[in-house]
Formats: sequence, structure tokens, C-alpha cells
Amino acid sequence: MALTGLQIQKLLPKTNCKECGSNTCLAFAMKLASKKIELSVCPYASEKAIKILGAASEPPVKGIVLGKDKQLKTGEETVLYRHEKTFVNQTIIAININDTDNQEEIDKTITNINEYTLERVGEVLTVEMIALTQKGNDAKQYADLAVKIWKSLNRPLILNSPDIESVSLAAVAIKGSGSVIASATKETVYELKNIAADNGHALAITAPDLDELVSITTQVKKDGFNNLILQFQTLSLAEQFQTNSIARRMALKANFKPLGYPSLKFIKMTDLLESTILAITEMSKYGGICVLPTFDPAQLVSLMTLRLNIYTDPQKPIQVDPKPYPVGEPVKDSPVFLTTNFSLTYFIVSGEIENSGISAWLVVPQCEGMSVLTAWAAGKFSGATIAKAIKEMGLEDMVTTREIIIPGYVSQISGDLEENLPGWTVIVGPQEAGDIESFVKVKFG
Ligand code: SF4
Repeated sequence: MALTGLQIQKLLPKTNCKECGSNTCLAFAMKLASKKIELSVCPYASEKAIKILGAASEPPVKGIVLGKDKQLKTGEETVLYRHEKTFVNQTIIAININDTDNQEEIDKTITNINEYTLERVGEVLTVEMIALTQKGNDAKQYADLAVKIWKSLNRPLILNSPDIESVSLAAVAIKGSGSVIASATKETVYELKNIAADNGHALAITAPDLDELVSITTQVKKDGFNNLILQFQTLSLAEQFQTNSIARRMALKANFKPLGYPSLKFIKMTDLLESTILAITEMSKYGGICVLPTFDPAQLVSLMTLRLNIYTDPQKPIQVDPKPYPVGEPVKDSPVFLTTNFSLTYFIVSGEIENSGISAWLVVPQCEGMSVLTAWAAGKFSGATIAKAIKEMGLEDMVTTREIIIPGYVSQISGDLEENLPGWTVIVGPQEAGDIESFVKVKFG
């Protein structure tokens, strides 16, 4: 059962030494209770406190770290719904390769994954993992292919095979890659657990139902291995939705540790629409790693964009740094546009300037990630604040232009801005970014 802040405080030294960054032991205890900090941050916690609080302060869904540099993380979620707080580690997207696929096809998939990047609101998105499924029966060939993929892509793998010898050979061959050994059943789990532990990989356990899965994870944890992932066996979209929800609800609401792990799902449908629906369900309902059956850039664009939306912190609007941005290759007398530092606004406006075919400067003051009208209503986008930001950025030394084009929605600040920015003329631009192109044509010919 989760302990309250007051119960936790009783186990702390109560010296209020502040070394943990909190002003008092009680403040630290409150953070610990809401799982915002780890007990190890307090250097004076007693053995007894570590024993009691260590388990209590574990996140309800264990964080599993993957990859050679341990950069890829799944799990550590604390809420059922994004609007309650935020989701922490986004669903990892993997692409499946079968060892029986022809060589040319495998090479093409590796190249495609290697070259694939998608840029969205300033973030560069890629495929994070590759699953290698064994359908043939040549253990050495399977291990060699695992090495080839690992060396070519330098991303962690998901080794998916019913054959222990093949998994063992591959797991040793890619030791240090921080990969996942998948599909461990009650018959194979004990051997695979040792292989995973010896080679620094995580282990995904599967079972026909949640009861059996719970009994396996309980036993494996008791045996001292806790680097676990859950691989649910579901036969329909409804069952997938239901099983994922039950497991996550049990972990978060009942602090039920045997289901407190991230999950792994292989999407096996090759029909594009069906596989996309299953993947969307996985991302919307707590999926840790989602393996797509094939590489399809059209599918990746929609899934990655959706994932970005789901995993964006609703309390922190995505922002770009406040500064003047070059759009194209502007020179000193290129036009100067103004917008806010809300990422979506920035990328739409800069995209539309680019589409208009001119090079320009896009000035972005600090607006705490608000859109134009919201920032203006909150007093963050006034003549005085914009003029102050422009002076602090040193824009007047960077450009000789003394005209600034402001968004049409805040035409009312033009007088205020001219007053605070002597020597500048304010031009009221279009209200909608989509009209920038026609505005540019009229103004700049
Ligand atoms: S470091 Fe430990 S003892 Fe010091 S204030 Fe924080 S919780 Fe209390």
C-alpha cells in the first residue's frame, strides 16, 4: 500500500539539512509520496527507511532502460489519463524483420529504417527498435542476422524466437546492446531469464491469460530478475484494449507489482488499415513497445504524429527558444516577421514564409509557449514586451530592416509597439498564417 507523506516523514532523519534540495524532510517526504523524487537523493536515509521506502517509492510501472547507452526508456508511468498529469515515456516503435525474408528485402528494410527521420515541431523522430523474428530453424543464421542488424543500425533489438539455442546465440552476439528477449513462456522463462541477465537484456514474458502472466512475473522477480516486460496475448482489438487497460489499472490503482511493467505488442496484421488501428490502440492504451509488421513510411508518419500528441505534457506547451530565426537565407535587409514561441505557431508561420519563396527573419519573443491571441490576452505579447525582447536579442544590430510585420490578430498593438521601438514601422500582416503567401506577393512582388 502506498505510504502518505506524513508516514514517510516519520522514517526520515528529520534534521531538515536540505541536502536533498527540499527545505524540510516533510517536503522531501511529500515529493517521495507523489513519486516525484527517489529516496536515494537523501544521503542520510537509514537502512530501515531504505527497506520500507525503497519498495514504496518505486514507480507503479517499472522503468526499463534499453539501448547501448541506456537512452531508450519505457514504463515509469504514474497516471491512467494524460490530462491527469502527463505520460512519461512514449511508446517505442519497432519494425519487424523475419529471418526467412529474402536478403534483398532485409537489406532494403535496414536501409529504410536507417534513413528514415521525421521532423515534427522541432523534434527529429526515428524508428527506435528492430524486432527479429525467427521463422526458420538455423540458429547461427539467426544470430548472424541479429549482429548484422545491430551493427548496421546501432539500435536495440527484440529477439523473438521459440528456439532457446537461437536466442542464446543471438543474445550473446549482441551483448551490450540493451535489447529485449521476447516471448518467454512458463516453459522457457527460467533459461531465458539467465540468458537475459548474463547479457544485459530485458525479458518480455508472455502467457495466454493475465493469471498465468502474474504467476510467472511474481516468480521471476522473487528469483531476483526484475528487468521485465509484459507481452499480452490478445486475439481481437476489444481484447487488446481491455487487457492493456486492466493491467495498467491494476498497476496504478492497486499498486499491483506483478503487472507493474511496460508492455510489448507485436502487430501481426499486414493489412495497412488493420495494423494501424491496432497500433493506435496500443499507443493510446499504455503500450510500451509496439512492433509494426513492415516498414511503411505512410503509416509511420501518422503513428509518430499521434504519439507525439499523446505524449506531449499537457501542462507544458511545446516551445521554441525566444530569438530571431532565419527562414531561408535572409540578409541584413530581409523582411522581419513576428510571432510567438508556441512551437505549433512558430512552425506553421515559418513554413508559410518558406512557402512564399522569400527569405526572412522570424522574431520570436518569450511568450511562455502561448499562441498569439492567448499571449496577447495574458499581457505577454504587448508592444512593450516585444520591444524589450527585440532590444535584448540585439536584432537592431543584426538587421538594417526597420519594418516589422506583426500577426493581423494583434493589430491593436501596432501603435504601442512603434512607441516602444523608435525608428521602426509596424506593418500589420495577415490574421491567418495560410494568407502569408498572398500577403508576401502583394507586399514584396
Ligand atoms: S537530505 Fe534527508 S535529512 Fe536532509 S532534509 Fe532531505 S530528507 Fe531530510
